This record gives sequence, C-alpha cells and structure tokens, in this order.
Amino acid sequence: MALQLFNTLTREKEVFKPLVNGKVSMYVCGPTVYNYIHIGNARPIIFFDTVRRYLTYRGYDVNYVSNFTDVDDKLIRAAEELDLTVPEVADKFIHAFFEDVDQLNVARATTNPRVTENMQEIIDFIQALVDKGYAYESAGDVYFATKKFDAYGKLSHQPLQDLQHGIRVETTDKKRDELDFTLWKAAKPGEINWESPWGKGRPGWHIECSAMAQKFLGDTIDIHAGGHDLIFPHHEDEIAQSEARTGKQFANYWMHNAFLNIDGEKMSKSLGNFITLHDVLAEHAPDVVRFFMLSVHYRNPISLSEDTLEDAKNSLERLRTAYQNIDYRIQHAEEDVADEETTEDWLEQLTELKQSFEDEMDDDFNTANAITVFHELAKRANIYLAEEDVSITVLREFLSMLQLFANVLGLKLETEQAFELADEEIEALIEERLKARNERNFERADEIRELLRSKHIILEDTAHGTRFKRGEE
Ligand code: AMP
Ligand code: ZN
Repeated sequence: MALQLFNTLTREKEVFKPLVNGKVSMYVCGPTVYNYIHIGNARPIIFFDTVRRYLTYRGYDVNYVSNFTDVDDKLIRAAEELDLTVPEVADKFIHAFFEDVDQLNVARATTNPRVTENMQEIIDFIQALVDKGYAYESAGDVYFATKKFDAYGKLSHQPLQDLQHGIRVETTDKKRDELDFTLWKAAKPGEINWESPWGKGRPGWHIECSAMAQKFLGDTIDIHAGGHDLIFPHHEDEIAQSEARTGKQFANYWMHNAFLNIDGEKMSKSLGNFITLHDVLAEHAPDVVRFFMLSVHYRNPISLSEDTLEDAKNSLERLRTAYQNIDYRIQHAEEDVADEETTEDWLEQLTELKQSFEDEMDDDFNTANAITVFHELAKRANIYLAEEDVSITVLREFLSMLQLFANVLGLKLETEQAFELADEEIEALIEERLKARNERNFERADEIRELLRSKHIILEDTAHGTRFKRGEE
C-alpha cells in the first residue's frame, strides 16, 4: 500500500508523493517561547516527530524545520514581568523546551530557526510583497492586502466574500481593509526593534514562517504542519504571503492535529485546568506521555486524565514485558529445537504483522491502529513463549519486530529502570530459594518469592527447574 495522508487543503486522503524522490521537506510551526509549553503543545511535537520517524523508516531523507517565535507581544510582556530582556526570556524558555521535549524522545529538528536570527530575510520578504503590490506601508506598519490574493481562504475552505462578514479583527484606521493583516509593526517607544525600510519595528507573526520556510526549505515544501487552530488565520496567511511572492504552490500537503482536552474539557487558563508539559513529566514517565499521545489518531481529539495516562502506562508495560521475556529467553535458550514447519509458520505470521503495522501507518499515520497491531505482536510473543520448544530464529524475529515497531513510534522497550534486579542477582536468589526449600526452610523460600514478585519477577517451577519471567502475574 502506498503512504496516504489527509491533506487539509483538499480535505482528502492523498497518496504522498514528495517533490524530490527520496526526500521530504517538512515545516512544523513551533512555539512562542515566552513560557513553558503546555501539554497540548506536546501533541503536535510528538505526533509530527512520529511522522518524521515513519517517513525515515520508509526510506525518505527528511529535512525537518520547526521555528521558535522569539519576539512578539507576549515575549515583550514576559520580559517586563520577569525583569529580563526579550532575548533572555527566549533563551530561558528555549532551554526549558529542550529539557522537556528531549525526554519525550523527540528528535532534534534539522533546523530550529529563530525570528530574530532571520530578520533580514523577513524584511526582504515583506519588501518583495510591497514591490509586487500585495502589501502597503501605513504609518510605519506594513499590511498584506488580502483581497489582492484571489485564492485567499482555500486552506480553511472559506471564500473571501464569506470571510468578510465573519472575521473579527480589530480595525484600525491604518488598514485599508478589515481583512488585511500585519506584516510589520512599528515599534512603540522603548520596545525591542529592528531597522527596516519602514522605520523601526518588528515582524507580525505570520510572515516569519513564510520567510523561514523559504529560506530553509525552498519555495515549495512537501508537508506543512501544526495544530488545527493554526489553519486560520496563520496558515491561510502564510499561503497568501508565500504564493503572492513566488507564484508557486507553498506547501503540497497540509497536516493538522486535533486538540488535547483535559478530563474532556478544553484546556484554558480561565478553566484552571491548564497544565504544563513540565508538570506532567514530574508525575509521569516521558515514554508513557509519548505513548498516550499516540494512542489516539491525530485527527481525533484526545483527552488527558489520570485514567487515560494510567491506561497508557499499563498498555506500554504489557508491550515491554513481552519484549523483556523474549529477550530473556533468547539469552537462555540453548539451541533451535522447534520443528521447521512450525518455525516457518511463525515467521510467516510475523511478516503479516509487520505488513499490518505498515498498512496502518500508511493510512494517514494511524498510530492508534498501529498500536493495536503492536499489542497483537506482544500477545503472539507471549503465546510463543509458552511453547515447550522454541526456535531462536523466531525469538530473534519477535525481538527485532518489537524493536522495530517501538522505534517507529519513538519508544524504548529495553529500559532497565522498571526492573532493578540484574539476571545474575535473580539467578542467585533462585538458587538460594532452592537451597532453603531443600533445607525445609519454607519461610525463607516464600520470602524470596515475595521479594522477586515485588520486583515484577515471576517464578515458574517446572520439571526442568525454576524459570523466571518479568512482568505482572
Ligand atoms: P501555540 O504556542 O499556541 O502557537 O501552539 C503551538 C502548537 O501547539 C501549535 O501547533 C498549536 O496548534 C498546538 N496546540 C496548542 N494547543 C493545543 C492543544 N490543546 N492540543 C493540541 N495542540 C495544541
Ligand atoms: Zn507558522
């Protein structure tokens, strides 16, 4: 099956075909760095990182750009409140961003451009729009003349004439039309500013993405992404600016994630249910947070609660247990003892599961269904482990498939932290328990079994001796 993705521009699932064979250019709108990011912001970060991983798995070389908005009204206000300069506020929260996001096993972007480091390109971009008649200066501000761009509204599927009645923007007498939006803002006295052909000022929000996407990825990019609230006006405005300047299609595929809610409610400061990623990570393991985010298809809303996080934790634990048990068995199995036909049959099942996993990911990155396949793989691994005779070839194949699915989703299964005891220590305790039993010291024997159980090590007394398994009973 070919990889398909839902394109907001056409509102259809389309077969993905990059501009250049084997390469993908991807631009994901990043955070405004005036505060810690909240748990909702983590959704696009984790999901689009998974898109990138899957594209890489499919053999594409992905150029992944995600910006930091490091100057705007919110940063200026935060700088006043924190008694810092605007660049200091930005540095502080970019640092905090990486501290949190790195834990989520999110790969660093190829480039994280910052507005303040690309000011010349932004000014040049605005100038080009002025030169082409798409933008005009007015008392030190520069505005985009929206109605000059006929295709305005194509991403949000709202024709220009409808917008004219529905839009809520503050009209100032500086604008010629209420639909026009800011490209450059004249500086107020004392505010951080840059020199420009229109006087001292700073860029509006939308222009940075058009300028930086073009600088780092070219006139046309393959995938442009962000949360669905960005469709209008941010992405609509980006399209207008970029296409007005170049006359070429700005992005071939637009992807937007649905929102994360808290306990089924919209997250907002006024509702008092606003949670930072930092706070969530203080209570929950990062891989659980990541796994949770991928447990729902990205175009459906996801609800964060203690229960949904607990479900994610248990679900991930089951996958991890299967992995650990297979790994343990490989280390302790002696030779290939299973008959060839059974081995072939299992290997075939594994190939089918891999195909199913890929089919789900190919279907608009359906991570939720891909995780169901992952569970099926873990379930079959457990069934296989219960067989008397196993083949190392099959065990290895199980291990590498579990690993492969985990890699695509950005999860680690081989973490040691869940199990504090090393194999040797467990073996020694089993030995001691055997000795205690032989000496009819059942109290000690039971004590050891309990100790191991508390570390999630389960003992199985078999005719061939005592074996152990990692996991819950
Ligand atoms: P912002 O800092 O608000 O511009 O948001 C940064 C990114 O997070 C954008 O792609 C937003 O669409 C996305 N985002 C913001 N809130 C949520 C939410 N509650 N759930 C999912 N994504 C969100
Ligand atoms: Zn953007």
